[in-house]
Amino acid sequence: MATLKVTDLHVSVTDEEAKTSKEILKGVNLTMNTGETHAIMGPNGTGKSTLSETIMGNPHYQVTQGNIMLDGVSLLGKTVDARARAGLFLAMQYPAEIKGITNMEFMRAAVNATRPADDPISVRAFLKELDKNLEVLNMSDDMAERYLNEGFSGGEKKRNEILQLMMIKPKFAILDEIDSGLDIDALQVVAKGVNQMQSPDFGVLMITHYQRLLNYIHPDQVHVMMGGRIVKTGDATLATELEAKGYAGLRDELGLDV
Ligand code: ADP
Ligand code: MG
Ligand code: MG
Repeated sequence: MATLKVTDLHVSVTDEEAKTSKEILKGVNLTMNTGETHAIMGPNGTGKSTLSETIMGNPHYQVTQGNIMLDGVSLLGKTVDARARAGLFLAMQYPAEIKGITNMEFMRAAVNATRPADDPISVRAFLKELDKNLEVLNMSDDMAERYLNEGFSGGEKKRNEILQLMMIKPKFAILDEIDSGLDIDALQVVAKGVNQMQSPDFGVLMITHYQRLLNYIHPDQVHVMMGGRIVKTGDATLATELEAKGYAGLRDELGLDV
């Protein structure tokens, strides 16, 4: 079992033009073990993507206090690559297009980065795995040969993030609004891919606005984030409750002014 632990995390971003720094995360605590599925819900602008980017090591986000640890080892100061090699994966809200590298090349490099340098995956084994996963995700073979995310539709980008996830097999995956812009069929396909990953060696953190996704991927724990903090944690029923009363209702209930 692996454990990802975020303690009292405070994160600021700098506005380059105004030369000011703004605190976005104000003391986030979160512990996840492999074998568990967690969801973070929360209104827009509350710091959900900031949390994912900071866990993954995007240098734009400055940790001013607290820690992020994988199996007791701090990840602070480690590069995005080092964190990926350590077993973290982030499916981004807005995946970037990368010119000149095919999807397949990207995935092979990413898979090999998690293996010893003298033991790269064989082309044959890689292609076999790729074929299998393309089929699970109802993706056509040519998706693998296209340049990464270039000209992909919104839905294709999301599906492709899950394809990468299935190929790379991280210890922990953070899926940032993987459901946004997906129709119900695509959502079901994405959920099927994630559910197929479920194992005692895999933990997933899903970030979403809507309860809908959680009908397909069942969370063990639901966390609500508001104003840069996790203000409430519960089981899957918290998502349903939230859908009924809204973030405003929860804000009133907890007496928050954020
Ligand atoms: P969420 O994902 O919950 O919608 P974000 O983490 O994207 O929220 O944003 C939280 C706050 O941080 C917002 O006020 C946003 O404008 C600000 N923010 C996020 N990223 C940056 C950035 N790179 N530069 C400046 N401000 C940012
Ligand atoms: Mg604090
Ligand atoms: Mg976001």
